[in-house]
Amino acid sequence: MNEQLLADNIAKLLERVRLSAEKSQRCPDDILLLAVSKTRSSADIRAAHACGLDQFGESYLQEALIKIGELDDLGLVWHFIGPIQSNKTRAIASHFHWVHSVDRVKIARRLSEQRPGHLPPLQVCLQLNISGEPSKSGVAPEQLQEFAEGVAALPRLQLRGLMAIPAPSPDRAEQRQAFASVRQAFEQLRENMPQLDTLSMGMSADLEAAVAEGATILRPGTAIFGPRDR
Ligand SMILES: *Cc1c(COP(=O)(O)O)cnc(C)c1O
Repeated sequence: MNEQLLADNIAKLLERVRLSAEKSQRCPDDILLLAVSKTRSSADIRAAHACGLDQFGESYLQEALIKIGELDDLGLVWHFIGPIQSNKTRAIASHFHWVHSVDRVKIARRLSEQRPGHLPPLQVCLQLNISGEPSKSGVAPEQLQEFAEGVAALPRLQLRGLMAIPAPSPDRAEQRQAFASVRQAFEQLRENMPQLDTLSMGMSADLEAAVAEGATILRPGTAIFGPRDR
């Protein structure tokens, strides 16, 4: 994509984060912009890196592995944010620094077992299902505590916090309500696990509400790179 447009998009996004942080009396430096680069080219990611971004989120393993290889010289931090099938855990554990979408014990165990010994522990967030639809990804709130204890006990994972993808809503109050319920679950977990420090929530359309409810990682894609083709 056009590099000037990309630079303008990133500047606007940083301003949105700064303003919403200010409104909530938060420090913008406590909020990480994770650039969601799924479907984008390595050239676009390189250009975003030239604008100061160094952490990228991918949902589709095959295309991610190609880009991670092509961009090896940049020393980027890679986050896996998509659904995880068992046959993908080895590659994810080998090539990513973070995984945001852990929602099954079996997957967590495999990631821990398959994390290469020469790398630091894999940083993980548990994906919380706040919509209550059993078909959706994410662990149910009732099961969160037990699941978190199981994951925290795995030697090669470092549990950092929660991730959520609320149903899209154009209504700011509704957005905040959804993020508030994630924050509540997070605070409750932290009573027994004070080391947890990460709330991964907020995308291009709802990041103001996410910042207001305590997000520490925002995951914008469209707001940086423009609309996706697929
Ligand atoms: C695609 C995606 C995003 C980015 O969404 P935008 O609306 O483009 O900002 C964030 N998080 C996850 C998990 C995604 O799959």
